[in-house]
Amino acid sequence: KLDFIGKLAQRLGAPVREEIVHAVDNVNLTIRHGEVVGLVGESGCGKSTLGRVVAGIMPPSDGQVLWRGRDIASLHGAEAKEAKLRAQMIFQDPMSSLNPRMKVQDIVGEAPQVHGMTTRSGFNDYVDEQLRRAGLDPALKKRYPHQFSGGQRQRIGIARALAVQPEFLVCDESVAALDVSIQAQILNLFMRLRSELNLTYLFISHDLSVVEHLSDRVVIMYLGRVVEQAPSEEIFARANHPYTVSLLSAVPRIEARKRAFTTVQGEIPSPLNPPPGCHFHPRCPHAMERCRVEVPALKEIAPGHLSACHLNG
Ligand code: SF4
Ligand code: MG
Repeated sequence: KLDFIGKLAQRLGAPVREEIVHAVDNVNLTIRHGEVVGLVGESGCGKSTLGRVVAGIMPPSDGQVLWRGRDIASLHGAEAKEAKLRAQMIFQDPMSSLNPRMKVQDIVGEAPQVHGMTTRSGFNDYVDEQLRRAGLDPALKKRYPHQFSGGQRQRIGIARALAVQPEFLVCDESVAALDVSIQAQILNLFMRLRSELNLTYLFISHDLSVVEHLSDRVVIMYLGRVVEQAPSEEIFARANHPYTVSLLSAVPRIEARKRAFTTVQGEIPSPLNPPPGCHFHPRCPHAMERCRVEVPALKEIAPGHLSACHLNG
């Protein structure tokens, strides 16, 4: 059963509010109901753009996002509203997405009230339930965001997302700004919510070690293209693409995976003017003549394991 299928090609370089929208080039991503997909790549690879498109908050300039087999851009009325609420995003910095002048109870309760998910009389209980789910004490609901720690603010953001009863959470670097011990707590919360609420996740991170423990499947992006994807154990045991191999050797706490090069060599080229052929060739220790001219196709090299590298023939 395929619930989210995106066939996307985001065009290059339209500046949006001084922020460059990174190019996503011919990406096909299928996320099954209940699945946790980790999307990994360096800054500028287009993973946030892809996340926004899949979450339905940014339309693709080309391509479509299918939900329950239908293009979300073609939906109207109640169906369009449902499609919009089905996916919620959790961002890196909750402070920038929480209104500093609103009490927590209103941050969490506003949208569900607007959408008729709770009544005026049920409002308090409804808000309390969302806060409890996110691991916050409902007694604190009359406070303002600045009165909370970074980890607690991320929990407020999570409570707000849960309050509209989503089935799909797109988490974009959701723990990147937090201390390591708090990161683990928030990741555990995501996993508990997954089983309690039967949620589906797209978990976006620049850090492979963050997605390792929670993802069923990992998708690796480099400069707007998917270069490898595989079930999580498969990626960590048998990484194929030289870029993935270099990312894995850059994971410091996994000693056994330290290989010949411990960081990804070289600068990341501009995503707006990527190198021809295989985008990774200027940094790849195995680059051949062919790599400079020919784009490697994403090919299945083992069941469910896809890689885009000429070394595979
Ligand atoms: Fe390296 Fe060539 Fe494979 Fe690209 S296609 S990853 S440059 S070997
Ligand atoms: Mg980003």
